[in-house]
Amino acid sequence: MVCCKAMTKQNILALSLTEMEVFVETLRLKKYRAKQIFSWIYKKGVNNIDEMTDLSKEDRATLCENATLSHLQIITRQKSTDGTEKFLLGLSDGNQIESVLIPEPKRLTLCISTQAGCTLDCTFCRTAEEKLKRNLKAEEIIGQVLTIQKETPDCRISNIVLMGMGEPLANLSAVTEALQRITSPGGLEISPRRITVSTAGLVPQIEAFLNGPVPANLSISLNATTDTVRNQIMPKVNRLYPIHTLLRALKKITLPKRRRVTFEYVLLRDINDSIEDARRLVRLTHGIRCKINLIPFNEFSSSPYRRPTDEQIKQFQTLLHDAGLTTTLRKSRGRDILAACGQLQGTTSTHINRNLNMAAPMGYQSPEPIAAQTD
Ligand code: SF4
Repeated sequence: MVCCKAMTKQNILALSLTEMEVFVETLRLKKYRAKQIFSWIYKKGVNNIDEMTDLSKEDRATLCENATLSHLQIITRQKSTDGTEKFLLGLSDGNQIESVLIPEPKRLTLCISTQAGCTLDCTFCRTAEEKLKRNLKAEEIIGQVLTIQKETPDCRISNIVLMGMGEPLANLSAVTEALQRITSPGGLEISPRRITVSTAGLVPQIEAFLNGPVPANLSISLNATTDTVRNQIMPKVNRLYPIHTLLRALKKITLPKRRRVTFEYVLLRDINDSIEDARRLVRLTHGIRCKINLIPFNEFSSSPYRRPTDEQIKQFQTLLHDAGLTTTLRKSRGRDILAACGQLQGTTSTHINRNLNMAAPMGYQSPEPIAAQTD
């Protein structure tokens, strides 16, 4: 059976379960077919409608006449010496995004993008050099998980971080819809506790997200302890929401029990990594249920910034720990293929990052918590 001339057909990846029920009924198919189709897409990860064999031949033919199942295409795939893999994916309009697969002993994490380019302009981030092309649709956010899951049939993606290209909270409605399908029983059924959304600090959207339908983890990129430095390294967002506005808003939000926010802190040598910065960070975060995730800067050729020395990193981390703050150190993963934090850019360059002057082992994310005697 020849299936799917794509033009005006409905891409069923774009439909929520409720929308799918409406769609199948417009095709005069039984409503329960929607759940079956969802199961084929999200549980079995099929490539096309023809593989949905518990639908009758007639129903599949009708579906094929009116719908497509358009998955994202892999343009390039690179593997780091530490096992991390970076995928460059093509969108239907020619834009490109990157996703990063991070294998670890007990989990398989996928870092996904939420925008092509980015709304914001953090100066330590390679994505910012691209400017914003557009927001991703919900199906393009989920599509990264579906397309890459097919490439790892023996190992299920267990954790998802929205830390790729783009500011997720600047695309909140599509992100929320995608997370609903990623977490729902009829969808990919990944627990919200295994999902982390990272934001540069869009205050109104943080409140909306924390009061939203998917209780995923929230990470906030603070990265500085003075507005002077934050205006320099995160100009757009800090001008909108300076440090005190951001922290004041967080202090007002009542976090559900056992939930705390993570403050991400990219350590830039001689910019924000001084002992005084560490002391200020302790004072600034006082009264907020949080932990600090330190991210030594991942260098790339067009950036003026440098990664602190291991000694500087240790000193900074120890001061936070001794002050009672739960502190994790993010291992950089995939630096040799520009797959580490802040290194993503939707381009086809298979550039190998020769700019590595740090002997530090490569690694992306396995926080090694030093549990402090909090309170
Ligand atoms: S760090 Fe995040 S928010 Fe900032 S420019 Fe990069 S992708 Fe955008």
